[in-house]
Amino acid sequence: MTSRWDKFLSKMKKYSVEMEENMSFSSLTTLGCGGKIKVTLFPTSIQQLVLCLKFTKKYHIERVVLGAGSNVLAGDSFFDGAVIVTKKLNGLTLQGTTAVAECGVSTPYLFCKLAEKGLTGGEFLSCLPATIGGATVCNAGCFGQSMQQIVSSVTVWQNGKMRTLNVQQCKFNKRSSAFKNTNSVVLRVKLQLHQSTSELVNQLANQFRTQKRQTQPLGAKSAGCVFFHPTVAVSALIDKAGLKGYRVGDAKISQKHAGFVINIDKAVAKDIYLLIVQIINILTNNFGVQPQLEICLVNITKEQDDIFATSKGRNTQIS
Ligand SMILES: Cc1cc2nc3c(=O)[nH]c(=O)nc-3n(C[C@H](O)[C@H](O)[C@H](O)COP(=O)(O)OP(=O)(O)OC[C@H]3O[C@@H](n4cnc5c(N)ncnc54)[C@H](O)[C@@H]3O)c2cc1C
Repeated sequence: MTSRWDKFLSKMKKYSVEMEENMSFSSLTTLGCGGKIKVTLFPTSIQQLVLCLKFTKKYHIERVVLGAGSNVLAGDSFFDGAVIVTKKLNGLTLQGTTAVAECGVSTPYLFCKLAEKGLTGGEFLSCLPATIGGATVCNAGCFGQSMQQIVSSVTVWQNGKMRTLNVQQCKFNKRSSAFKNTNSVVLRVKLQLHQSTSELVNQLANQFRTQKRQTQPLGAKSAGCVFFHPTVAVSALIDKAGLKGYRVGDAKISQKHAGFVINIDKAVAKDIYLLIVQIINILTNNFGVQPQLEICLVNITKEQDDIFATSKGRNTQIS
């Protein structure tokens, strides 16, 4: 009898979807840890992405969608499913002050194209090691700019259908959206910018990048800020608790920015989980503040899921 995996893989071959067996999350995420993956798919068109989504559903293959993997902590165990990487979906059109980007377009690349046309509003994109799909899901932003200010509509795959949602329907919130921790997949994003000049746009982006370099450990393996809280600056509390430099295995709280957990060499996801749990406990006990997770957890075990279930900031995504 042909297994569901055989059927699935034969469909992927039939539709010429690029795939690789036995890749690791560690090579697909900026934190550089996480276990092996049964199959990793690299669709090169939106049609192929939709086929990947349809057939994972049809053959009951667990799936995770990844952009640049810059906001993800992936578990160490073997992932018996399909990871769909969007990076090869990089179609971009610019018309007047509007940009339409496929989900895998890299944010620094998009920024460069906006800057060439003197379009302002997206300078923060130059600071993110991300894809536009991931940035939309996470409502990424910095220095007062964020995705919700420039998105005009988002085309998603939801419940087996393609839909285009306006900005209200995207339900953007601090570092989240209607798409975070759901089965919705962002296919394409339409952005509305404002006309300025290339010189001013580059000047502002340079200021942002300089500030980032001065305050964040950009050379280290990390997933950016691990926590957020709607009203409290979590990194200042971590610093106040004297935790900068604190380590579990090779996972360490950055000396440069207490909100960053960095992988100093060979950290496994378990080291990072344990460190995160300790930070949550210390902040809760010492300051009565329970930070929420800004990073997304994928491929986590039941045991680890239970640990985070006790944190109000539980924020997992396993599809
Ligand atoms: C050095 C560094 C600095 C950072 N600075 C900032 C910052 O200043 N501001 C900020 O907000 N963030 C920052 N981040 C975090 C990160 O870059 C952002 O959250 C970014 O938006 C994640 O995009 P990504 O493409 O890497 O998404 P991923 O990390 O690949 O995915 C994030 C989540 O979105 C899901 N996802 C990805 N693509 C899709 C899609 N097309 N459809 C549906 N779901 C999808 C994933 O499954 C996952 O749950 C930083 C990270 C690093 C490493």
